[in-house]
Amino acid sequence: MQDSNSSARLGDVAVLGIGHTGEAVCRYLAGLDGRVSSVTLFGGAASREAALTRELCGLGVRCVVGTEEVEGSFDLAIASPGIPTSSAFFRAAAACAAEVIGEPEFAWRESPKDWVGITGTNGKTTTTALATALLREGGLAAEAVGNIGTIITSRIAHREPGSWFVAELSSFQLATTRLLHPRVACLLNVTPDHVEWHGGMEAYARAKENVFARLGAGDLAVVSDGDGWCRAAIGRLDARGLRVCRVDVRRDPGTPCAAFVRDGRLVVRLDGAERTLAPVADLLIKGEHNEENALVASAVALELGVAEEDVCRGLRAFSPLEHRIEPCGEVAGVRFVNDSKATNTDSVEKALTAFRPGSVAVLLGGYDKGTDLASLARAVAARCRVAVCFGAAGERIARALEDEASSSGSALEVVRAPHMREAFSAACGRARAGDVVLLSPACSSFDEFHNMEERGELFKRLAAERVAAGGLR
Ligand code: ADP
Repeated sequence: MQDSNSSARLGDVAVLGIGHTGEAVCRYLAGLDGRVSSVTLFGGAASREAALTRELCGLGVRCVVGTEEVEGSFDLAIASPGIPTSSAFFRAAAACAAEVIGEPEFAWRESPKDWVGITGTNGKTTTTALATALLREGGLAAEAVGNIGTIITSRIAHREPGSWFVAELSSFQLATTRLLHPRVACLLNVTPDHVEWHGGMEAYARAKENVFARLGAGDLAVVSDGDGWCRAAIGRLDARGLRVCRVDVRRDPGTPCAAFVRDGRLVVRLDGAERTLAPVADLLIKGEHNEENALVASAVALELGVAEEDVCRGLRAFSPLEHRIEPCGEVAGVRFVNDSKATNTDSVEKALTAFRPGSVAVLLGGYDKGTDLASLARAVAARCRVAVCFGAAGERIARALEDEASSSGSALEVVRAPHMREAFSAACGRARAGDVVLLSPACSSFDEFHNMEERGELFKRLAAERVAAGGLR
């Protein structure tokens, strides 16, 4: 196991939330002989006694279920990411614990060496997976952890000396970090999402910027130049005198550390030393946003010593992840692409850059988060031939698109459908050879599905049926 600062006594510890995070943290704490005086799990209002709580009790964890009241006196409380800092549950814990932190912060304190932290509204998972792949291509031991689906704490015991944790960090997780200090920290973008959880856009952006809070002179911040929130963060990092790699797909930012596209090739410059990497056309992940993700991941790998040729090989080999602009068949010259992971408007705008303008029949809709639709409507009207709007948000999106199409003179055809299945049929009925039927819905899926994966699976099944039938109708 890698060295850690795990000699410190933790005292009486409370764990908030009984999901995967709470469970993993309890199991870890239960295995820390002598460093913990007591572990109390507060499951939350909806929690009940079950096989899991009985098993945890058997490991010495006291389980309090069915309530958000927290009583006792604790040296440390570790909160699951689903619990907003403004919630009564969180505040109740804060009132009786010396400090309340999130799980990544806890994992970092236990095993603080060799971390990369990656955050942003969109692109975290892709960039985390790609950066991990590039490090491995260069012969480094690396594991993708965190929001990507692996609870960091659950991997501490398995870490080899010298191995890297490439941690995908959500704004929820970053809202409660204080000491977490990655060697390289990346911010991809900050666009509206989860604003309700944080109580406003400022707080959401501030949480993301927490990833940089502890960086020092030898570390590297990698930040996209693409939106106002990121540019403001760059200003603050510059003011601290830190090394900042600016990422801009459109132009060379001209700074000593920069990542950009020149003459169709990815270029990364670190402290003035420039490396020209693979051509954009060689990437299997498509769209301007993926060029950005590839630049960020390449900057991470080069900073940590991976050779240029290994980065190039890794970039060429990396395929799209499931549900992210994922090709899923073709029939009668029409391609099907599943981008079910696009649950906000910015990700759809970016996804559309992956296709020839005028060739897209896009499926939009789902649970309505009430997001502003003006910018999405402009992008769809400019780049799509057909938009089929479905689900709870369908009508609101359809109206926004019709307004935009009539004011901009776009020939966009707007169609309404009750659910995704009918939306798929409507798109197929209108697609022509050379077109793409794209699920990139701009909404979460909860009005019709359990999660975005289930929505993506249905889309892929429907596509496979058409491919097997050999026709669109
Ligand atoms: P996250 O883990 O942050 O949700 P993913 O890598 O899973 O990010 O991508 C989610 C969706 O966001 C993708 O389907 C794609 O449409 C979009 N996306 C990916 N990278 C970016 C980026 N750099 N900027 C904007 N949108 C992006």
